[in-house]
Amino acid sequence: MPASQYPELSSPIQLGSIRLSNRIIMGSMHTGLEEGAGNVQRLAAFYTERVAGGVELIVTGGISPNFRGRLALKTSQLSNRFQLGRHRQLTDAVHAAGGRICLQLLHAGRYAGHPFAVAPSAIRAPISPITPRALSSAAVKRTIRDFIKAAELAQRAGYDGVEVMGSEGYLINQFTCPRTNHRTDEWGGAIENRIRFPVEIVEGIRERTGDDFLVIYRLSMLDLVEDGNDWSEIVIQAKAIERAGADVINTGIGWHEVRIPTIASSVPRAAFSWVTRRLRDEVSLPLITSNRINDPEVAEKVIAQGDADMVSMARPFLADPQFVDKALAGHAERINTCIACNQACLDRVFKGKVASCMVNPRACNETTMAAQPVSTAKKIVVIGLGPAGMATAVAAAERGHRVVAYDRGELGGQFNLASKIPGKEEYQQTIRYHLDAMQRSGVELHQNTEVDASMIAGLDADAVILATGVQPRVPQIEGVDHDNVMTYEAFINGDRAVGKRVAIIGAGGIGFDVAIKLAHDSCDLHDWYRFWGVDRDFAAAGGLGRAEDIILNREITMLQRKTGKPGRSLGKTTGWIHRTHLKRAGVRMLSGIRYHRIDDEGVHVEQEGQAFCIAADTVILCAGQESVCGLELPLQENGIETHVIGGAGKAAELDAEAAIREGTELALSL
Ligand code: NAP
Ligand code: SF4
Repeated sequence: MPASQYPELSSPIQLGSIRLSNRIIMGSMHTGLEEGAGNVQRLAAFYTERVAGGVELIVTGGISPNFRGRLALKTSQLSNRFQLGRHRQLTDAVHAAGGRICLQLLHAGRYAGHPFAVAPSAIRAPISPITPRALSSAAVKRTIRDFIKAAELAQRAGYDGVEVMGSEGYLINQFTCPRTNHRTDEWGGAIENRIRFPVEIVEGIRERTGDDFLVIYRLSMLDLVEDGNDWSEIVIQAKAIERAGADVINTGIGWHEVRIPTIASSVPRAAFSWVTRRLRDEVSLPLITSNRINDPEVAEKVIAQGDADMVSMARPFLADPQFVDKALAGHAERINTCIACNQACLDRVFKGKVASCMVNPRACNETTMAAQPVSTAKKIVVIGLGPAGMATAVAAAERGHRVVAYDRGELGGQFNLASKIPGKEEYQQTIRYHLDAMQRSGVELHQNTEVDASMIAGLDADAVILATGVQPRVPQIEGVDHDNVMTYEAFINGDRAVGKRVAIIGAGGIGFDVAIKLAHDSCDLHDWYRFWGVDRDFAAAGGLGRAEDIILNREITMLQRKTGKPGRSLGKTTGWIHRTHLKRAGVRMLSGIRYHRIDDEGVHVEQEGQAFCIAADTVILCAGQESVCGLELPLQENGIETHVIGGAGKAAELDAEAAIREGTELALSL
């Protein structure tokens, strides 16, 4: 029986009155489909596809219990019976598919992005321009009633339970910590007063909804901010929440204002399950752990070593709706793994857009991107197997087309390079997934095979997809052919030795990747917890330790012609991590540069009219890319249907998310 590969994950568990047959839940993730009347069907399709793939319990994105608690003016609240209809459609759909669903109740507090924000005290969050109004004592009681009423409405709408969001620095967390709670009434001061707010919410929900309604409490076990809760306060809170009637406690890690990464790809897998384990001896409730668990092997280990009773995953279900079924059937190699890039999910949601997934563009687009089997199989030839080509080959073959695929090198293209950057090793998972999917869907794969137009013409293809990708741009700078100059590709592949003083020309995504790799290779501090200052002994409040100094044995200078801060084009949720890392490592970043020449001394430049030389033994070119494509014209002249996709079509806007989406959409239309 393959399920025995993960005996812990596939063992049943009782949560309140609900019995689940495995230990994985689909955690809360705001998709952007929670709002907008026309989006209910899309959200229902997104959820039910996950239930069909083995998910038994879903927690929705955060819904506010009142107007002031909305994350933004246009986000959702549940506070009256007229709002029940859309929720009923969701719960009916999930139940019809055989799943269960809990509504997450989230009051944003001072993180609300509108002028009606409220909080325990009028203290502005460092990541918000809005100073919240302090809740009066009467308003605190009204807010508790709003939470209880929202839970009651959720029950009427058919939800199987609620998750009370008590972490990530939202309102409840703002009450529990001295950082944000400066009150002197019965809601502030001693820890017993600061936790009164969540305790009364949980007690009220339990009383109003009865024993058959699941109450999950998401408890901030590691605030990672100054004046967060210390360990004794977390234990007091957990015990009080248990007494108040919660069925299960979920783990929350880090406030949104924290300057320590908690979910990015550079965070080690299951980096925080140790904190859930600390709480296990203190309460008798089942505990769920979360954050950077994207693989069944890791999830199994977390449970087997006693860190938690269950694991919660959110982004991995965007990447692969069948995660649970594949894992429990012993086919982990078939999982399209979430690589924690945040590019198509969180970065989009923070811009007010609907989430999707870089490695699975069908996520949240299930109603419009259905993969229908074809009635007449065509012969499709794919040239180039970077992200765009791999996605096209797999999607076309899975629909039933006969696909023949070529790459002049190995599978993966730019993802091969990305996976060699420290903290981006997960990119290799996407290559592994596509290789496995190609083999299973019958793609005829030719690696290390150069093709030309006459050879392709002889293949008698119905359509040819040119996904030949990009090559590094070599900018027109005097001396660019000097011995000390190399492309980012040569550097990342380790083809050439690098000196002690390095100048990087170009400070976009790849310039940052190169600087991170250089900084990593030039430093001995590779313990992630010491690097970022996470104290697993929990000596200080919030679990905040001292981030150790990063000392490089190399001088690194990044250059760009644009004025303004380098790294502006990086992702919203990950750019700050790279900038912080390099700043702490002492990497010099210069903007508004004009390049004069490169010679034995280094790079001669001009900035604000001043000419000077950046002394460098090595110069690495990270100046963007140019398309690799010369086959389109000869193929078209031969009357062959030809499509150019990904970087081969638009190197200037090269972006893996767009490349994979373009390839998938094309394959669905063939
Ligand atoms: P990019 O982000 O567009 O950056 C190209 C850099 O080259 C810019 O700093 C640009 O700055 C410079 N440049 C362009 N033409 C130049 C020329 N003729 N001479 C000198 N400098 C020149 O491109 P990329 O770094 O190659 O990244 C490719 C894509 O992958 C981008 O979409 C990027 O966002 C994405 N990516 C993202 C990440 C991430 O978010 N962590 C990591 C890797 C890649 P100036 O024009 O100001 O000099
Ligand atoms: Fe994971 Fe990236 Fe997909 Fe988000 S976009 S779910 S982080 S792979």
